[in-house]
Amino acid sequence: MPHRTHLAGLSDVRCRIVPGPPAGRGRTGPAVPADRDRLLAFRLGADRDAGRSAVGDGSRPAGRGFAVNWPLTVTYCHPLVPPEWIAAHGVRPQWLRLRATRESGVAIRRGVCPYAAAWIEATGGRSSSALGCRQDACGMLAIATTTCDQMRYAAALAAGDDQGCTQPVFLMNIPRTWQTEVARQVYRDELRRLGRFFQRLGGRAPRPADLAAVMQRYDAARQAWRDRPAGCSARQYAEALAWLRGPLEEPEPAPPSVAASATHRMAAGTHPASIAVPADCFTQGTPEAGVRVALVGGPLLHDDYRLYDLIEQAGARIVVDGTEGGPRTLPRPFDPHAIESDPFEELAQAYFDAFLDAMRRPNSPLYHWLSGQITSQQVQGIIVHRYVWCDLWHAEVARLAARCGLPVLDLDAAGPDAGTWPRILTRVEAFLESLVPHGSAAAATLARQTPLP
Ligand code: SF4
Repeated sequence: MPHRTHLAGLSDVRCRIVPGPPAGRGRTGPAVPADRDRLLAFRLGADRDAGRSAVGDGSRPAGRGFAVNWPLTVTYCHPLVPPEWIAAHGVRPQWLRLRATRESGVAIRRGVCPYAAAWIEATGGRSSSALGCRQDACGMLAIATTTCDQMRYAAALAAGDDQGCTQPVFLMNIPRTWQTEVARQVYRDELRRLGRFFQRLGGRAPRPADLAAVMQRYDAARQAWRDRPAGCSARQYAEALAWLRGPLEEPEPAPPSVAASATHRMAAGTHPASIAVPADCFTQGTPEAGVRVALVGGPLLHDDYRLYDLIEQAGARIVVDGTEGGPRTLPRPFDPHAIESDPFEELAQAYFDAFLDAMRRPNSPLYHWLSGQITSQQVQGIIVHRYVWCDLWHAEVARLAARCGLPVLDLDAAGPDAGTWPRILTRVEAFLESLVPHGSAAAATLARQTPLP
């Protein structure tokens, strides 16, 4: 009978589960310990200033939030890691807004995509042969996922080296298959293993009532953002969704246009008055017209959020955000009755069953969702953004063109070198010109010189 890791599309994980030295400490050590529950080596340092370390020893007061004191902070950047599960353990979930790394480190030279390279840099891995391990980031706590080979490699780099530098990286195994009970069970087991990881570091074991309360709070916050509010640009929406994946701390008053929208939702009984979003989510205007495009692809570095501005300033309107940070990766709304009876099961199902991504096998639900969005939003063209070295999304470009029947622009981004943005702007403008008839109002708009945002 096939082993369950094989049935769940994790045969490579099983092959690497062998007795050996502590994970991440040697060249031949397994990525996952044999008992699947032993922790990667770690050490905690004294509390440091914000931006230098995401983990502390509790000596510095935590910020305001629904959990008043966070003994630990963990960074993560994949939407299948539920912030509710992290927060229920008394650990502060910090969604990484990764910045592009400009160092020509070993990660880049070995062909790691810019996103994975930025993750290595942010978590203090050995991104540069010249710098070696970043001492200021040593001891940071991070979650990586096995959703692509690049992140597996990045996790191995960040997990430490043989120089005595250790890195507390939790490598969460995500099954590629999703239709079987075996795959769901692997995901549940990984969540439980993550919970034990937190408890050994000082987190608490959540009671069902605690988990249910955290889930209700996140669910209420997401409810207001399932659809993009009127007056909110694509970039503003992306910023708001990133905020929803964090600890939901320190809400600021919403601007008038969104306050009106929130009032409407409150009247419908779906929007609690306590939920707001940071004011800096609303710093720019919203295009009223233009060529209607869908932006599709993997995750975006925070520096690359300027792509939203560039596309809209070039005369298009992004009516569908199909990138990894967009709404397609949000969990489905929680069932209030299921939260009361078995919150953990409801959490696992809401995240695992609803996840839409190119990495899934089969990934046909991603195309069903996209087809529905294309029809309802009257999309005229698709812009696929993918990083060089990202085989996952490179392989989907031809399928997208064939399945969706629309013009597709394949935007490959290599990283933060000087020529990247002028090249992208030229290609976006040429693509948009091809979508509109000559002499139309839209063509006149496109003819304007577009400044780089
Ligand atoms: S951009 Fe692609 S290759 Fe890079 S981490 Fe994401 S899925 Fe993996």
